[in-house]
Amino acid sequence: MMRLPKFTYRVPKKIADAVKMYADAGTDAMFVAGGTDLYPNMKRRQQTPKTVISVTRLRELHEIRGDAKIGMSIGSSVSLTEICEHPVINREYPFVADAARLISTPILRNMGTIGGNLLLDTRCNYYDQNYEWRKGISFCMKKDGKICWVAPSSPKCWAVQSADLVPLMVAIGAKVKLLSRDGERMLDAAALYNDDGIRYLNKRPDELLTEIQLPPRNGMRAVYKKLRRRGSFDFPVLGVAAALEIAGDGIVHDAKLILGGVAPAPVRVSEAEQSLIGQKLEQERIEAAAQACYLKARPLDNTDYLMGWRKQMARPFVQRALEELRQQLQQKPPR
Ligand SMILES: Cc1cc2nc3c(=O)[nH]c(=O)nc-3n(C[C@H](O)[C@H](O)[C@H](O)COP(=O)(O)OP(=O)(O)OC[C@H]3O[C@@H](n4cnc5c(N)ncnc54)[C@H](O)[C@@H]3O)c2cc1C
Ligand code: SF4
Repeated sequence: MMRLPKFTYRVPKKIADAVKMYADAGTDAMFVAGGTDLYPNMKRRQQTPKTVISVTRLRELHEIRGDAKIGMSIGSSVSLTEICEHPVINREYPFVADAARLISTPILRNMGTIGGNLLLDTRCNYYDQNYEWRKGISFCMKKDGKICWVAPSSPKCWAVQSADLVPLMVAIGAKVKLLSRDGERMLDAAALYNDDGIRYLNKRPDELLTEIQLPPRNGMRAVYKKLRRRGSFDFPVLGVAAALEIAGDGIVHDAKLILGGVAPAPVRVSEAEQSLIGQKLEQERIEAAAQACYLKARPLDNTDYLMGWRKQMARPFVQRALEELRQQLQQKPPR
């Protein structure tokens, strides 16, 4: 049985106290929400904070406000189950609830939060192992070792961005609010991620994620498709998020196509977006976008399934995503 290492557990009831507790604890502290990622990582000694500060009792972090007209604000400690079941999110941002429903299992979604999902550690077959296993290969660069076993001559870690809500939040242009003793700052979700499996977040460890802001809908349609081995329960090894703004004449005015699960950060495929913008969402355009995503997807051999097959799957998954949006459009044209 894997046991947690010893640590000091703090449970602030006010946001200001949480921020202060972190500052007092120094660099050896981490925030925790549902703990469905952090605690297994601590058991495997991948992350070993001396102080763990729970954000679950901070009332403001559980709030959900707004609507499609003005945009929505979702507190970082809102659970994935609440997102799946929330009536306004289901009615006005159904793609967010749909993507959340694809995450892990119902029990884990009861504990796991949207904030924890957006800040999930990157994953790799050589890293997501217990301490003894990792010791057996002299560890790796991401933790305790010197070499990357996936790309031994690489100066960078290629552990994979594997959270389902990340590509979608980037595609729809969500923003995140971060709070520290230096004050508050807003960041585009896209700017939160860094293409490096070790320094995967452009966020300081002392910054508390307080809120996720969804932009006003303004006719935007979005969808998320996920490739995984077991449909009931598994991390994505490919995620495709597409968000389109389509006018009444059926012309695509704006497009975002983001791939997850293929690199340390979500990958934006501008070439695919350009093949859609200014055009009607017709078969030929969908195929061009899917081909551009196939060319851009360069997964490495560090998650489930063969990397070549995961790359090939980018094409049909993008086609399915865009086809679904086209069908939505035919059923209910934009106003
Ligand atoms: C068996 C299993 C299957 C899973 N399958 C999936 C899957 O299919 N898809 C998927 O996306 N995820 C999956 N997960 C991962 C996880 O359950 C979810 O991503 C979940 O949303 C994480 O949320 P959490 O609140 O539990 O995060 P936590 O473990 O509490 O935190 C995760 C990270 O975020 C940081 N953090 C959390 N909240 C804050 C905050 N407010 N401010 C600053 N830092 C914060 C923590 O320090 C930590 O680094 C799976 C996990 C398990 C164990
Ligand atoms: S990509 Fe390389 S350095 Fe990163 S976790 Fe995997 S083996 Fe380790």
